[in-house]
Amino acid sequence: MPTRAIVVAGAGIGGLAVALAAARAGYIVTVLERAIELEEAGAGVQLAANATRCLDFLGVLDRLRSTAVRPEAFQVIDGRSGGRLAEARMGRDAQTRFGAPFLVIHRADLQAALLAAVKDEPTIDLRLGRTVEEFAVHAGIVTVLANHGGDTEEHRAHALIGADGIRSTVRDRLGGRGAPVFRHRAAWRATVDTEELPARFTEPVVRLFLGPDAHIVSYPVRGGGAVNLVAITTDRRPSHGWGIGAAPEELAAPFARWHGEARTIIAAPERWLRWALFDLDPLTRSWGSGPVTLLGDAAHAMLPFLAQGAAQALEDACVLGITLGEAGDDIAAALRVYEQRRLGRVTRVQQAARTADRIYHLGGPARLARDTVLRARSGGALLERYGWIYRWGP
Ligand SMILES: Cc1cc2nc3c(=O)[nH]c(=O)nc-3n(C[C@H](O)[C@H](O)[C@H](O)COP(=O)(O)OP(=O)(O)OC[C@H]3O[C@@H](n4cnc5c(N)ncnc54)[C@H](O)[C@@H]3O)c2cc1C
Repeated sequence: MPTRAIVVAGAGIGGLAVALAAARAGYIVTVLERAIELEEAGAGVQLAANATRCLDFLGVLDRLRSTAVRPEAFQVIDGRSGGRLAEARMGRDAQTRFGAPFLVIHRADLQAALLAAVKDEPTIDLRLGRTVEEFAVHAGIVTVLANHGGDTEEHRAHALIGADGIRSTVRDRLGGRGAPVFRHRAAWRATVDTEELPARFTEPVVRLFLGPDAHIVSYPVRGGGAVNLVAITTDRRPSHGWGIGAAPEELAAPFARWHGEARTIIAAPERWLRWALFDLDPLTRSWGSGPVTLLGDAAHAMLPFLAQGAAQALEDACVLGITLGEAGDDIAAALRVYEQRRLGRVTRVQQAARTADRIYHLGGPARLARDTVLRARSGGALLERYGWIYRWGP
């Protein structure tokens, strides 16, 4: 076995990013991904300043130039009346304020950029169609067993990083680290061509429509050639995954009393994809054990309301790369340092995402009080509420 080899389970945003970070730190990296082909659900992702700073650190930001959109404004809109509750200037203003750009992008474009960077790295071996099933640790070496078309493959390394998502097998095999918690909400997602919506939706603006028990987010992606839509509703069905399609009529009921602009969004896609929302309770102790650790959703899946899940996976990747670069022979000790460097921050973001769930979906007098506060808030103050998230850098 070559010196300092690492296995990464999962080639999502977190897995690809940490492969890059570890390779740059001098490690030989094997990425094992369950999917036979890497494809992303047709959906967008917001990249706040902390995320783009990480992508810059990983040398990937420049690869996003032609596909990402830099929003010029962020608007909070009353979903029922259509009235503007608050607005912040983004673009250059936000970049100056937080020291890095805010971008919105189609997930497939982000994944393609990460993948291209991975392929340019000769010390990364990405193997598709491999499902990590077990691992065993002996004398500081971890042996990873992966199922490949019914055969078992064995990979030996100095460390295993479980970047295998919210239903992580690596977390499960570590034991005692919690299970996904169903939050009784569904995220409905669709990406539509710009012709399907009135021209104003193609403006470089992130719009957040708030209403009791539901909200909608829209922003342009694909260099402005498409619009990404997300609708959040209360939903008791815990079935998860992107494969669950639904016609717009199924979504019409929760938004029946909303403003025409919101209903236009709901009616635009031919088909929505539904995703039941789960998160993890914050882990109060180290994520890993010995030469095994976790990263991204596997460690700290969070509700998507602050658009920070992928951003926190990117932060993890940078910090783990830096920590591995500093490591001596004791890689297990370096993994504990990485976990301690990340634990407090991701716990705070996970909790803030749960708080955002409550605030976004208020009804009755509490909703009116929230709206009064929002109307009084300047654009700068609106963004500064999460300045502690956006100013982070590796
Ligand atoms: C509605 C919604 C909107 C969101 N919007 C944003 C946003 O705007 N901004 C943002 O930053 N975040 C957002 N997120 C969160 C973000 O999508 C996730 O946090 C992020 O994708 C997690 O990345 P990951 O690499 O940790 O996990 P995943 O993306 O889940 O990747 C895990 C990978 O591991 C593979 N895998 C699983 N099990 C195994 C196994 N046993 N062996 C091998 N491979 C395996 C999977 O196939 C997958 O490729 C949103 C989430 C949702 C639901």
